[in-house]
Amino acid sequence: MKRALHESIEQDDMCLPEAVSRDLLVAEVHAWARRIGVEDRLREIHIRPMKRKWASISTRGRLTLNAELSSQPAEMRREVIVHELVHLKLNHGAHTKLFRTLVKAYLAQRAGLAIDKAPSPRQSPS
Ligand SMILES: [Zn+2]
Repeated sequence: MKRALHESIEQDDMCLPEAVSRDLLVAEVHAWARRIGVEDRLREIHIRPMKRKWASISTRGRLTLNAELSSQPAEMRREVIVHELVHLKLNHGAHTKLFRTLVKAYLAQRAGLAIDKAPSPRQSPS
């Protein structure tokens, strides 16, 4: 299950079409933080193994991402990142109707991330 060796060899090769390095994961977070308008409040980004969840965020702007997230598909990474940053934006951890609406809205306007270099074949929604 441990991916340390695998990562050290393949991290920069981008063999997996959708997997990213940790640096890129952090870059994705910053890109979304800018878009969502919380870049000033996002103080720390930590990437480490987490047992039970993909990510967590504190109201003081400390974001922790599960290290496994970097090997998840882009869609999954995006959902997790946006989810946490909207918590930061709203300054609470509740999944209110407003929260869910905002998450959906940000995920809908997905184009334009600088790091989404190659458009995926299924990019355009029907
Ligand atoms: Zn949540």
